[in-house]
Amino acid sequence: MSTFDPLRVIADLEGLAARTGGPAGSRRLAWTPEWVEARNLLREHLATLPVHVEVDEAGNLWAYLRGESTDTLVVGSHLDSVPKGGWLDGALGVMAGLELLRALSAEGTSPITVALVDWADEEGARFSRSLFGSAAFMGTVDPKILAGLVDKEGNRLVDVLPQHGVDIDRLDGAQRRQENVKAYVEVHIEQGPILESMGKGICTVTGTKGIERERLVFRGQAAHAGTMPMPMRRDSFRAASRFALAVAEIGDRHDGVTTVGAVACKPGVVTAVAGETTITLDMRHIDAGELAAMFAESKAAADEAAAAEGCTVEWEHIFRIPPMPFHPLLLDAARESVREVEGHDIELPSGALHDASETARSIPTVMIFSSSTNGLSHTPEEDTPRDHLVMAADAFDRTCRRTIDLIRTGSL
Ligand SMILES: [Zn+2]
Repeated sequence: MSTFDPLRVIADLEGLAARTGGPAGSRRLAWTPEWVEARNLLREHLATLPVHVEVDEAGNLWAYLRGESTDTLVVGSHLDSVPKGGWLDGALGVMAGLELLRALSAEGTSPITVALVDWADEEGARFSRSLFGSAAFMGTVDPKILAGLVDKEGNRLVDVLPQHGVDIDRLDGAQRRQENVKAYVEVHIEQGPILESMGKGICTVTGTKGIERERLVFRGQAAHAGTMPMPMRRDSFRAASRFALAVAEIGDRHDGVTTVGAVACKPGVVTAVAGETTITLDMRHIDAGELAAMFAESKAAADEAAAAEGCTVEWEHIFRIPPMPFHPLLLDAARESVREVEGHDIELPSGALHDASETARSIPTVMIFSSSTNGLSHTPEEDTPRDHLVMAADAFDRTCRRTIDLIRTGSL
């Protein structure tokens, strides 16, 4: 019945990789010529379909396939990549959405409108603001913060965006696209090792984990590495180390994830006790209560670690997003589809953020994962067995068909 062909999704992904990738990985960094080139390829495909293509105020590219009603299912993901990224991250969801438009248009008039979106700058790899386009669509960006963002070469985001037709003062306009949108479905690679370790190719995604991201500054006293006796030191790095071990244990205990991913010591020389140590902390959990408990325990652990080494500790908030559970009816639709395709009910929370984390704030949303070989992503080695890609695309199509039915019958 469905004319959706997963093999065409793979062919389109390979076409994209041939044009904007290579042995050194994909290079579709947002707001660069290579990213524009990836979009040109998408536009070439869309030009063969009876769709209406538009770019919104935030630089998101939309392709609308008008149906019998204006009620709209949105599908998509992101073509942008990290530098030296993989060929599937984001691209899978865009190419699967493209194939859905292709199939629906070949099958006659769709009962509802279906829109494919290629979200702008999901990765935030250049200006450190991920989910740019989807957040603008949901109205959760702060233009004041955007105004201060600068890339490694010193280019300001506010100067780069106008080259792509985006005016930071008009981002609000992107929110108008929410009108008539009843659901959002995204297929993505897992980017982790869990499905592979279970010997499975696909699963339903229950939601995306909430995140607390902080910077901690431990302060002690810099001193000579040869003359200051051990018991008399106020070593900020030792305090930070105690905390790092404690926070790993907190992650374990709550079945969450906690990461100290960066550390910088001052004065940062081999002959001095570190007077000041700055670390970053990233904590994630799918349950808001557990995440709050992890946060509270890490506060206590930091105080304890600092006190044990005669240091002080100061917290600086970086970023926070609550857990985003997906919609119950769409979860049912995804579960049924995964069951039909691979014959199981496995579901996982997403440890990574996705554009779906933004849409799920107020739009019924669900995701499907494919496995990731060796759990690797954001590297040229990123890959997924072809049969798993086929299953993921198939389950995505089935989930979308079920969602269209739910919208058509007024259940969403
Ligand atoms: Zn992605």
